[in-house]
Amino acid sequence: MNYVRPKKHLGQHFLKDENIAREITLSIDESTTNLLEIGPGTGVLTKHLLKNERLNLNVIEIDTESVEFLKTNFPELEGRIIMGDFLHFPIENLFNQESYSIIGNFPYNISSQILFKVLEHRSQIPEVVGMFQKEVAERIASKPGKKTYGILSVLLQAYYDIEYLFTVEPHVFVPPPKVKSAVIRVRRNNVKQINCDDKLFFRIVKTAFNQRRKTLRNALSVFNFDSEKLATDILTKRAEQLSVEDFVGLCNAVIIN
Ligand code: SAH
Repeated sequence: MNYVRPKKHLGQHFLKDENIAREITLSIDESTTNLLEIGPGTGVLTKHLLKNERLNLNVIEIDTESVEFLKTNFPELEGRIIMGDFLHFPIENLFNQESYSIIGNFPYNISSQILFKVLEHRSQIPEVVGMFQKEVAERIASKPGKKTYGILSVLLQAYYDIEYLFTVEPHVFVPPPKVKSAVIRVRRNNVKQINCDDKLFFRIVKTAFNQRRKTLRNALSVFNFDSEKLATDILTKRAEQLSVEDFVGLCNAVIIN
C-alpha cells in the first residue's frame, strides 16, 4: 500500500513485492550493525530492517512527502530520518564517524553517482546492498573484454568484491520502470592500499576509458611512462582489455615530474 504519488524526477519506483523486499534486507552481512538506507520512500525495505534489532538504522530521503509518510507510519524512526540529498550530504559524519553499510532501492537516475560517492568514502563503507538498473549492475560486475566493462567496473572492483544476486522484473514496482533491475552486493575487499597513488589511479582509468576505442598509447598520451616498468605491449591495448591489476601496473609506471 502506498499513499505517496511517485515522482518521476526523483526516480521513484516503489517496490510492491514483499518477498523481494525481505530478500534484499536479508542480503546484508550478518555482522552489520550501522546501516544507512538511501531513499526509503514509503518504507518497503525500512519496515523489514526495523524488525532486525541488531541494526542501528538511519535513512536519508530527499522527498518531503515520503518523509512525512515515514514519520506517520514508522514512529520508531524518530530521530533517524535525514531529510536531504545523499549526494550532497556530509556522509562522513554519520554514525559518529564509525563505519557503516548502505542499502537501498536506489533512484536509478543517480545510481552511478551514489557509487562514486561510496568510492570516495570507501574506508568508512564496507558494504553496499541494493537495487540498480540491470544494465548498471552488469556494468559494475563486468570483467575485462566486455563492452559493459568501464570506469565503474575497474574502480569499484579495485576496492570491492561484487556479487550479482538476482534479477528483478519491472512489474513488481509502482510505476514499473522501463528496464529490468538487479540486486547486487558490493563488499570491501582486503586491499587496503592498491599499491599506487589513488588519485593518479582514478585519473588513469577515467582517461583511458574516455577514449575507449583508442589504444592506450593514444588515449593516455598525456602521461609519461617509464618503459622499463611497463608490461610488454600494454600500450597497444585498449582500456577495456585491461584488468584492475593491469591498471595498477600502468599507474606504477607513470613518471611523475
Ligand atoms: N525504497 C523505496 C523507494 C525506492 S525509489 C522502495 O523500495 O519502494 C527511490 C527513492 O529514492 C525515492 O523515495 C526517492 O525520493 C529517493 N531519492 C531520490 N533521489 C534521492 C537523493 N538524492 N537522496 C536521497 N533520496 C533520494
